[in-house]
Amino acid sequence: MIESKIKSTVRDVLDFPKQGIVFKDITPILKDPVLCQEITAALAGQLKGLDIDVVAGIESRGFLFGPVLAQLLNVPFVPIRKAGKLPYKTVQQSYDLEYGTATIEVHEDALLKGQRVLIHDDLLATGGTVVAVSELVKQLGAEVAGYSFIIALEFLNGKARLTPYSDKIFSLAAY
Ligand code: IMP
Repeated sequence: MIESKIKSTVRDVLDFPKQGIVFKDITPILKDPVLCQEITAALAGQLKGLDIDVVAGIESRGFLFGPVLAQLLNVPFVPIRKAGKLPYKTVQQSYDLEYGTATIEVHEDALLKGQRVLIHDDLLATGGTVVAVSELVKQLGAEVAGYSFIIALEFLNGKARLTPYSDKIFSLAAY
């Protein structure tokens, strides 16, 4: 039900950000407040029984539902940002893109040792981004509790890169 609602609302954009890519545009979801509430409730519902101290959301679309999810779970929200955006002292993690590398960072005091972190983003593609975020979480001595996405592009096999956590990867709509 929620999966078909998401799929009928998300817009496919051809050749974005480059030729040959079919980009899943989630912005039409944001125009439907009822669907937004259903999505947040469904994300939280999937996490029942998981021990979560913090939700970490990934720039930028992980900031759309991540903070609301954290509020629903009654835990703090921590932003993971592209390098150079966070004002205070940070720790960083670089990772490979198809062409070149990217660096993400988090405030050094954002996570405490031993905290169990739910990593949230709008969409799982190859998994490269969440693998890098997982390393960042571990750099601060915290632990990955699980992963939560609205959409998983399963044909890209990102879940295979998160194998130790395969029973803790949640999504609402799969392609
Ligand atoms: P990955 O690192 O290959 O798993 O890519 C996931 C990251 O790229 C996430 O932060 C997504 O927001 C973004 N992304 C990749 N493909 C899409 C898409 O089709 N729609 C929206 N975001 C995407």
